[in-house]
Amino acid sequence: MLAVFACDPAQSRGRRFAQPPAPTRTEYQRDRDRIVHCTAFRRLVYKTQVFLNHEGDLFRTRLTHSLEVAQLGRSIARSLRLNEDLVEAIALAHDLGHTPFGHAGQEALNDCMAEFGGFEHNLQSLRVVDQLEQRYPQFDGLNLTFETREGILKHCSRSHAEQLELNEPGGVGQRFLVHGQPSLEAQLCNLADEIAYNAHDIDDGVRSGLITLEQLQEVPLFDDFRRQTLAEYPHLLDQVQGRRLLYETIRRMLSAQVLDVIEASTVAIEDAQPQSVSAVRQMAPLLKFGEDMRLKSQRLKQFLLHQLYRHPRVLHTTGQAKQVVRSLFQAYRANPQEMQGGYSARSDAVRGALQEASSPERVVADYIAGMTDRFAGREHERLMNLKLLVG
Ligand code: MG
Repeated sequence: MLAVFACDPAQSRGRRFAQPPAPTRTEYQRDRDRIVHCTAFRRLVYKTQVFLNHEGDLFRTRLTHSLEVAQLGRSIARSLRLNEDLVEAIALAHDLGHTPFGHAGQEALNDCMAEFGGFEHNLQSLRVVDQLEQRYPQFDGLNLTFETREGILKHCSRSHAEQLELNEPGGVGQRFLVHGQPSLEAQLCNLADEIAYNAHDIDDGVRSGLITLEQLQEVPLFDDFRRQTLAEYPHLLDQVQGRRLLYETIRRMLSAQVLDVIEASTVAIEDAQPQSVSAVRQMAPLLKFGEDMRLKSQRLKQFLLHQLYRHPRVLHTTGQAKQVVRSLFQAYRANPQEMQGGYSARSDAVRGALQEASSPERVVADYIAGMTDRFAGREHERLMNLKLLVG
């Protein structure tokens, strides 16, 4: 059933530590299962997507977001005859490296790490599955296949790619140096990510009261389907039914984007005729929106940026979140023994190390990045005697 340009687990470029095949599962199923069972995956449930965890129980978290990305990704993968298991593995792992408090946490940690190699959440997701998860007797990390790791490392700066290339020649860092593309499964996860957050941030934004259905009328991708829905179900204009109008509009938006990706990508694949995954890696991106949908999606992103992500109430909480991360960084750096779970010992072990990837500061960054929102909040209260981020 797989297309010639799909990733075939039997042709995988393999794992860093060779292991015998599993009796009943393919290599990508096995990757997915390792991800679902790892500690970092369970922490996603208490990590912020846009709204901080304490703000409400119904908002998306990194975990529900990742599940939505996996759902959208799998459904597109099946239509395009791509490898669904690989898509699912990448989607479930793609946000494992996120700090607490969403992008605010990542920005603050990147600032703290400015002199020590910076902090990138995509690279951190790879660090989680390559090193930080410690649950197997023979190796650090989850020892995932090349293809899953390739998909997890969505972006990477040139300097970090060079570092990766030194440790793993011809590995997952290489494509950022030679301007190659990843597999179609990885390309698909990037698009599914975008489709998922555009839709659920509208839902969460309206739920929070920070954006309104009236404001959304300036967004064509949303408003076209809102009108279409109302034409069919005029009774949804009623206030009491407003939620159903929102849900139906979002449902139609999602379907339209999924169909658009399938159609536009089918055309691109037919034009390019890739005969293998290696051919795909050398071509321009083939998984894409059609031009019209790309522009509409861009408009929606702009809207969410200005009206939601930069809303004064969001900025107020993210300002506090940054303060929490900065204070924690300084506190652990000064007193590494305050870190639990072996991090304090790791910090002792690397004292004096010169490599950015194994400096005492990197240990602190790994520790903070692994925290859930509420653990970070509690640690801040314990170490600073100051309670921030209460709803
Ligand atoms: Mg994501």
